[in-house]
Amino acid sequence: MKEDCIFCKIANGVFGSYTLYEDNDFRVIFDIGPATVGHALILPKQHAKNLFELSDEVAAKVLPLAKRVGAVLMEELHCDGMNLVQNNGETAGQTVFHFHMHIIPRYEGDRANITWTPGEPDKEKLEALAKKIQEIVQ
Ligand code: AMP
Ligand code: ZN
Repeated sequence: MKEDCIFCKIANGVFGSYTLYEDNDFRVIFDIGPATVGHALILPKQHAKNLFELSDEVAAKVLPLAKRVGAVLMEELHCDGMNLVQNNGETAGQTVFHFHMHIIPRYEGDRANITWTPGEPDKEKLEALAKKIQEIVQ
């Protein structure tokens, strides 16, 4: 647990929260500034600043948990869709530097704004990049 990290304190029960799920590795809470009704956050109990610091072991459990909790929220809230959002770095919108996955239920006509303007792909650049990345990722 990192001393000055609010999500470490919430995940490990030092600070209270609206908890909807807890196990040895995670606490799932309701977001304090929800984008929509039911907006939840998956918090690992182990501190990791972002996805790239998260252990593979914990990371592998995040999506199955999002699926389980998300399915229950879909059922209970009768929402029309759901976004999973996970921000890494200030530029990407991260404001709390302890890994978390947002589960955002979506409703027809809601005000959540999770979108971008599609750009034009630079085919040459993409081809070169794809080749290079393929060699590195395994
Ligand atoms: P991000 O911008 O991806 O880092 O998301 C941080 C999220 O944490 C925001 O949606 C905040 O509303 C939420 N948040 C910050 N502090 C708390 C807190 N004490 N309890 C619950 N959610 C929080
Ligand atoms: Zn932390």
